[in-house]
Amino acid sequence: MQTDDDTEQVVSTGSLPGWDRVEQLVQDAHARYRDLADGTVADYIPELAAADPAWFGVCVAESGGGLHLAGDAEVPFTIQSISKAFVYALVCEALGHRPVLDRVGVNNTGLPFNSVIAVELNDGHPMNPMVNAGAIATTALLPGGTPAGRWEHLTRGLDAFAGRRLEVDDVVYRSEAATNQRNRAIARLLESYGRIEADPLAVVDLYTRQCALRVTARDLAVMGATLADGGVNPLTGERVVSAQVCRDTLAVLASTGMYERSGEWLFEIGLPAKSGVAGGIVAVAPGKGAIGTFSPPLDPAGNSVRGQRATAHLSRSLGLNVFASSVHVTERAGAGR
Ligand code: GLN
Repeated sequence: MQTDDDTEQVVSTGSLPGWDRVEQLVQDAHARYRDLADGTVADYIPELAAADPAWFGVCVAESGGGLHLAGDAEVPFTIQSISKAFVYALVCEALGHRPVLDRVGVNNTGLPFNSVIAVELNDGHPMNPMVNAGAIATTALLPGGTPAGRWEHLTRGLDAFAGRRLEVDDVVYRSEAATNQRNRAIARLLESYGRIEADPLAVVDLYTRQCALRVTARDLAVMGATLADGGVNPLTGERVVSAQVCRDTLAVLASTGMYERSGEWLFEIGLPAKSGVAGGIVAVAPGKGAIGTFSPPLDPAGNSVRGQRATAHLSRSLGLNVFASSVHVTERAGAGR
């Protein structure tokens, strides 16, 4: 992936810079990539092709609750695969670390998000919750007993992450439901390996609905900031999940959130993140806040082109890379002897 090496690399292990500086950098990130015309709008879900390729929104949510918005940060779009991160967190909260680890796993497949071969190559194990097989297996684990009960648990949780009620985009839902034979095949395959206990087609229907929930870049930033804030929504003060669940979720995002480009992303940007085919990306800086971006044109791996560039720029200029450190000069006992 392409990032700009000319952005001054700030190192910060503590907090974000002051309000004005963050505000200015968010506006800069938007202005810098607004005219970038690379990438292609997804069309395998027919209705997604109607998106305007010029849409571009950026939002930083501080873990203290401050919000910085630029461009189309309040234009709604469907959350798609980004829902996988938050549904995973809800399922971990309900079932605990070990059972979800055993059932779904945390290792990257190195293959596209909707790969069937990845399931076959791993004895029917879905591998991780950020590919479709693992996300479908995760949605199947939601508490609630019935599809309606699971949906209730899911929407209550995602609303709490966003701090507002999220609605389903019915047109996108129906467009995907009519064309998601591949996800239905993945669910049947998982069933054949005994990895799903619920009705596989009902689970795919729930998964399709969760992907069609409408969010904005602002919502993504707030949802991410909740993961950055030990599970407490910085706007509403509501505890959504535990701090341990946030840690587990962010670890999974670091290794698998950007599809088969996750290694490259972590190397260049140094933040756990998740992207979706409608053009959203959320990147989380633990303890500091989160970046939500939206722009429909995608690269071949399915990650938003402008979103990646803007996030990279903000990670460098705000000092968010979790692997960066600077020399810490201390009086070491015996130093210099
Ligand atoms: N609903 C989409 C699918 O299952 C989500 C994919 C994505 O955002 N990568 O194909």
